[in-house]
Amino acid sequence: MFFTSTRKNCNITASAAIAKGISGDGGLFVPSEFPRFAEGELEQLAKLSYKERAARILQKFLNDYSAEELARCVEGAYEGRFDNNEPAPLKEIYNNVNILELWHGPTCAFKDMALQILPYLLTVATGKNCPDRTTVILVATSGDTGKAALEGFADVPGTKIIVFFPRDGVSDMQKLQMTTQKGENVAVCAIEGNFDDAQSGVKNIFGDKKIAEFLEARNMEFSSANSINFGRLAPQIVYYISSYCDLLKNGKISAGDVVNVAVPTGNFGNILAAYYAKQMGLPVKRFICASNRNNILSDFIATGIYDRNRPFFTTESPSMDILISSNLERLLYHLSNENCELVSRLMDELKRDGRYTVPADILTKLKQEFYGGYCSDAEARQTIKNCFDKYHYLCDTHTAVAVNVYQRYAKDSGDTTPVIIASTASPYKFAPAVLNALGGNASEDGFAVMEELSRVSGTPIPAPLAALKTAEVRHKNSIAKEDMAEFICSVL
Ligand SMILES: *Cc1c(COP(=O)(O)O)cnc(C)c1O
Repeated sequence: MFFTSTRKNCNITASAAIAKGISGDGGLFVPSEFPRFAEGELEQLAKLSYKERAARILQKFLNDYSAEELARCVEGAYEGRFDNNEPAPLKEIYNNVNILELWHGPTCAFKDMALQILPYLLTVATGKNCPDRTTVILVATSGDTGKAALEGFADVPGTKIIVFFPRDGVSDMQKLQMTTQKGENVAVCAIEGNFDDAQSGVKNIFGDKKIAEFLEARNMEFSSANSINFGRLAPQIVYYISSYCDLLKNGKISAGDVVNVAVPTGNFGNILAAYYAKQMGLPVKRFICASNRNNILSDFIATGIYDRNRPFFTTESPSMDILISSNLERLLYHLSNENCELVSRLMDELKRDGRYTVPADILTKLKQEFYGGYCSDAEARQTIKNCFDKYHYLCDTHTAVAVNVYQRYAKDSGDTTPVIIASTASPYKFAPAVLNALGGNASEDGFAVMEELSRVSGTPIPAPLAALKTAEVRHKNSIAKEDMAEFICSVL
């Protein structure tokens, strides 16, 4: 099996796709074919631990990694890094409605599931493709990705990581998570600007010839920890398969039974991983794609028109406030039977006009596989309250969007298929909104809010968030957005 670009046919290995991150033609790397489960294989996987399942499933895609290399990657990423050593526990909240909790890692958001293992995958990939190189990870973040990437790459040999965040654009807790980061190879810097300034600054630096020469002279190379990298997608396929195995193991379903999957969606990476699991043979009936008020995806699934010419809203589920879902490009490639010309044309139109329309046959397939829905902040709050009052289950603002949209789908369609709902963040990461949803009154002090939420809900504050209260602030840099290149050179 090889990897090819969504915009131009090519043939590269899995490790090269991960080392490069993005294709030179602007496209994204996708597997040239999908490995399929053998008869009885899911039942076999059901008997294994999460780490063993992960190694077996990753091996199918990353076939130029040896079994030992993958076992080491998995061990480093998932052993002792997650609560109770269970990276992805599944909890049934009521009749066949299961919440897949993906936030038990060091930063309390689902990005840990991939960013804990990406550094290992990348280090092996660099070793195969350009040994002795230092990989410099550049990140512009609006909050969750930056911390998860820092935590993953801290003190990983052969790597350095530099994170830029908008000084006034992240929550206090997110800022503290980043500015207290330990590690000899990490740098964190605030930008006097917004997230777009940080993001365009990073993009410019990726394309800057002078800086490229500066790095070359030091045997260094930039790379990205963004979800455009297949190395971030592959580990996400694992947990959907693993959750199905857990349902099998607990006798909730029998081999071959179908399930639905619901995902709170932003960049379309998480839900695409579930779609990839289905292409391998996981019996999934419907993908429920849940959005907040930035409902560009539910409009797209309804009409086949992707149109980003619309107002951008700031919501209480900020990690889903996004108008360009990068990974949709991969889905278009697969649904169009690998039509590179069509994908290139649509992406050019998106860049030029901010919109595109897919052909009718693609829309038909899209609607067969996906249901799109969205809800407001007020509706998500109502769902948080309902879930807590009725099922004594506390969910965060992002997960609440998925639960809300799933419940509407189930009611409208009468579909009672067991469902796996991806839960993407700890409620404590968005404690003020969650506390307000429960009828509490969030004060200014982030730690007081977490303590109040803990008291009201009877759930513990995650240790990594509680520990921030006494952690030393190590990164105090704050620079003008014009000075990012200079900052990078001073760090390197
Ligand atoms: C990143 C993120 C999402 C969106 O995931 P995508 O893979 O970008 O669709 C949803 N919820 C939380 C909490 C996130 O951090």
